[in-house]
Amino acid sequence: MAYNDSAVTYEFVMSMVEAYVLDHPEFQMCREFGHAMRPTHRDYIGKASGSAFTLLKKLKCRSCGTKRIDEYSSVTRDLIRRAYEYPDGYLLVGMTMSRHDMRSWNMERFLAERAAVEEAEAA
Ligand SMILES: [Zn+2]
Repeated sequence: MAYNDSAVTYEFVMSMVEAYVLDHPEFQMCREFGHAMRPTHRDYIGKASGSAFTLLKKLKCRSCGTKRIDEYSSVTRDLIRRAYEYPDGYLLVGMTMSRHDMRSWNMERFLAERAAVEEAEAA
């Protein structure tokens, strides 16, 4: 979420992250650390022209089930195209959420828990 937009406050972003995590705790790790992608199929040839071709790699996240297809050039070895297929509820509508947002939310929780422990110890 872009809270450098003056209309969107940090508190608002944190409340949106909180709501998202409560609705979809299964996506929290991927949102903070990225997907745990692993190949699901052997690599295979996509488009071919003469001796050149594209190599396709199908991957799936072990954590959330997001699927990804990467397409590489046999000539340059560069990634040409990447496409994702997300599980229901993973994507947000009308906003984005960065890893920084998720880290910030976790930091807020950590600080609140630590403050509660210190307060209990002081009592
Ligand atoms: Zn994932």
